Amino acid sequence: MKIKTGIGQDSHTFDNESNKPLILGGIEFDHPHGLKGNSDADVILHSITNAISSVTGKNILGDKADELCQQGVTDSVEYLKLALKDLNDWQIEHIAISIECLTPKISPKIEQLKSNIANLSSIKIGDIGITATTGEGLSSFGKGNGIQVLTIITVSRKSAS
Ligand SMILES: [Zn+2]
Repeated sequence: MKIKTGIGQDSHTFDNESNKPLILGGIEFDHPHGLKGNSDADVILHSITNAISSVTGKNILGDKADELCQQGVTDSVEYLKLALKDLNDWQIEHIAISIECLTPKISPKIEQLKSNIANLSSIKIGDIGITATTGEGLSSFGKGNGIQVLTIITVSRKSAS
């Protein structure tokens, strides 16, 4: 069995001038502001998409996602689906997600996030780990200006080629 590890990162600032909904991990959060971006700016799904791209070597965000955005496809689930397709016969073994922000409170939503991400990625809830921190307010994210997400993904394939 061959194993690969991917890393992905993404960050967005809050869009304080619009009443765009805050979508994280495909779930709408009760929050006064959404995140800035042409798409729904789902920073968690973007981070996962980037982690998958780092395994497949095929970038989705800033390339195919921009094209889709111009066609009016702003749901980040669609970008994640493209990345998942590029995995071909690679199986996802685990997804580790680290979220840094002051608001919203992530911990009450962790189980719901896990369940939705497991569903989207066709893996078990037990194969997803999510932690959240304010980082003691040291960064712009911890100060409440936006959200940063880091993702590490582990994938495996039966053949050794
Ligand atoms: Zn993004």
